[in-house]
Amino acid sequence: MKKVIIIGGGCAGLSAATALVEKGYQATVFEKSRILGGRTSSVADPATGEPVDNGQHMFLGCYNETDRFLRRLGVDQHVKYRNAFSTLMIGLSGEKAFLQTYRLPAPLHLLLGYMQYRAFSMLERFSIIHVVRGLKKYTDTQLACMSCAEFLSRCKQSQTTQTRFWDLLILATLNVDPKRAPADLLKVVLTQGFMASCKDSASGLADVGLTELFGDAAQAYMAKKGGSIRLRETVSELILDHEKIKGVVLQNGEKVQADYVITAIAPNHLYRLLAKESRLQTLARNVKHMESSPIVSLHIWTNRHLFDDAYVGFWDTPFHWVFRKQSFMQDQSVSHYTLVASGADDLIKKSTSDLITMAKQTLAPLCGDVSISRAKKSLMKNATWLPPLGQNIVRPNIQSQDVKGLYYAGDWVDTGLPCTIESAVKSGHMAASYIINQKFA
Ligand SMILES: Cc1cc2nc3c(=O)[nH]c(=O)nc-3n(C[C@H](O)[C@H](O)[C@H](O)COP(=O)(O)OP(=O)(O)OC[C@H]3O[C@@H](n4cnc5c(N)ncnc54)[C@H](O)[C@@H]3O)c2cc1C
Repeated sequence: MKKVIIIGGGCAGLSAATALVEKGYQATVFEKSRILGGRTSSVADPATGEPVDNGQHMFLGCYNETDRFLRRLGVDQHVKYRNAFSTLMIGLSGEKAFLQTYRLPAPLHLLLGYMQYRAFSMLERFSIIHVVRGLKKYTDTQLACMSCAEFLSRCKQSQTTQTRFWDLLILATLNVDPKRAPADLLKVVLTQGFMASCKDSASGLADVGLTELFGDAAQAYMAKKGGSIRLRETVSELILDHEKIKGVVLQNGEKVQADYVITAIAPNHLYRLLAKESRLQTLARNVKHMESSPIVSLHIWTNRHLFDDAYVGFWDTPFHWVFRKQSFMQDQSVSHYTLVASGADDLIKKSTSDLITMAKQTLAPLCGDVSISRAKKSLMKNATWLPPLGQNIVRPNIQSQDVKGLYYAGDWVDTGLPCTIESAVKSGHMAASYIINQKFA
């Protein structure tokens, strides 16, 4: 049976590895960390033992590849979807508006909800028609060169509409300032997520920690199917024989042979491998220019229950969302919440006490003065990656153009999706199916 090496044990690497062992391939994952999951991981809180995620992750009903992956692992029931998308939104001055989708045929499910969103005037709500027209008017190539902010102002969206709706949607889904986010990805979010159907726009949250959901379940699946996972092993070099991949070299010098190699690592890590190979210099230059964007999360524990909803959104505040965590704790009088700021370049260097002050400021219009008994920050500097806008830098193809048997996976490669769990899993599944179908191997 053919041997496949997968570099990286995040969602991309694990989806590829499990798809391959499912078909009888001899797959080995090398993961440099001591735990699997990459950017979807959790650690046990030393005080309570409850799992604390590296950041809140939301799933959407349109995450079909993720669903397939979780079903393969037998843990799909741990992502709990609500019937539709619904959230309370609050401004710094206390204005409140409810945003939701309805169980109606598309696009009525969304339009009806948007028309009832009282964060701006009825005239401003009707102006969404210009966005629908804009999505048809501009080609994907034009949208790829245009920022979301530019697209929205061309589509006559007022400043209030942008601040109280569009910016939050763009930050939540693309994790980058609307002035830097390409409009073609906003089109993907709207057409595949929010405008496709009520089911596709439903939001889902995991009822277990991310490591249990992805890493532990994938490890158990690999063990059951005879696959192998080697933790704390960093791949430092690719072994090439002319135009064919032959294996990898580990940091300890060990050489491991394989018929195929899938890299499933972020651009900064991939660059280190590519830079050493003369055959891969063009791609290396491209990868070097990919830009990352941070997410800052603050976990807080309070001695009182703050709100009943699963999450609440905010405009004009430092944090954009707060999530109520499921209580795993013995002491039910203590509640755990996670505040999230996306595209958070301004917050990445803040101290925990500064972030606590900002959290209180964000939460005040929702639940008054909040007494925080404990807090833990999570700063993910390289949370997601995108090519810089308008500089002709592209996301790489999954199949290497230069080396036979080499494939690139990861949320940031060319899946056509924003950098999300779904993109990571789709890339892993695509890399695996190239190998399984021997299409171009
Ligand atoms: C705080 C936060 C919140 C997010 N929220 C959401 C959300 O709500 N919804 C959503 O869909 N997405 C969200 N995302 C994005 C999502 O987490 C990522 O898109 C996805 O996890 C990326 O998976 P990946 O496998 O491509 O990469 P990674 O998870 O980065 O996996 C790469 C792995 O490779 C390993 N590695 C690197 N170099 C080497 C090497 N040389 N040898 C061996 N191993 C190596 C790394 O240790 C890592 O484990 C969020 C991300 C963050 C950080």
